[in-house]
Amino acid sequence: MNGATEEICIRGTTRVFGIFGDPVAHSLSPVMQNAAFERAGIDAVYVPFHVRPQELAGAVAGMRSLGIVGVNLTVPHKEKVLDLLDDVDPNARLIGAVNTILNRDGRLFGFNTDGVGLLEALRTELDFDPAGSRVLLLGAGGACRAAAVALSSAGAKAIGWVNRTAERAQKLADEFAPHFPGTAFAAFPWDFQAPSTFPTAALAEVDLVVNTTTLGLKGESIALPWHLLPPQVRIYDMVYASENTPLCGQAERHGWQAADGLSMLVGQGEHAFRIWTGVAVPPGVMKKRLLTVLHDKKQQS
Ligand code: NAP
Repeated sequence: MNGATEEICIRGTTRVFGIFGDPVAHSLSPVMQNAAFERAGIDAVYVPFHVRPQELAGAVAGMRSLGIVGVNLTVPHKEKVLDLLDDVDPNARLIGAVNTILNRDGRLFGFNTDGVGLLEALRTELDFDPAGSRVLLLGAGGACRAAAVALSSAGAKAIGWVNRTAERAQKLADEFAPHFPGTAFAAFPWDFQAPSTFPTAALAEVDLVVNTTTLGLKGESIALPWHLLPPQVRIYDMVYASENTPLCGQAERHGWQAADGLSMLVGQGEHAFRIWTGVAVPPGVMKKRLLTVLHDKKQQS
């Protein structure tokens, strides 16, 4: 079994969905979304489109002319696409990135489903409710913006940022503070290398630590001062891998509850599917297909 969708039948009536990215060949969204269409009995297909930056406007126009019903966007298109759409969901505008487009009779609507995916992942994997919580976000990039908007909207009491580039984290704190008066924001610099230089004030009574950096994608670990983490803390790593990520492995060795980004990937995909089709994905379908594909990849490597 190679994890590919095996029973897609393309007819004259089949509706087309896809993902625009550069690169795109690594994307797991096609296997996930095709599994969901198949199981839900929806006559649709989801395909990867390799769209280079200079072709983005043409590709988006192509959605209208070809009647492509919905697409996801991945690196490097999530920010640039905003100006090409007819309407953008307020949360996506605040995040500054769109990862899902719905084509409704030629009008293109943009959404960002990463935040919903994260909240769903925190609920299912860590039994975590952000209301009244204190959260520490590692990083300050695009995924971190989505996390901050979702967690603030869900009632987080305090959000701290630790980032290598201090100004970037401070900019986020300054930008989001007026939008979420119920959340206290603070930014701290750290280079992610030495536990002894970690800004310990960032850990005060923290309930959740989320890695939103790219650290871990290539096996890098993060030198958190584990002995200083409060007892109630849970760890979420947006990075995902066929095996445990370095951060989740470290967390579990120190006795903390942790989960990796696979559940967020599933959560954002399930929300996109709902936006496009108006129905929920049959439970567990996307996750099961992803696990099969990741298992097969591991066997082949
Ligand atoms: P991004 O905008 O490029 O931001 C990257 C962040 O990582 C920045 O804060 C950057 O710090 C930090 N960083 C990179 N290299 C570093 C290093 N060597 N040392 C310390 N910090 C470093 O990326 P993104 O789009 O937000 O994505 C971030 C991660 O989230 C990726 O791993 C991505 O795969 C993951 N993600 C997962 C999901 C999911 O569904 N699970 C969804 C979205 C994203 P500076 O500001 O100092 O450069």
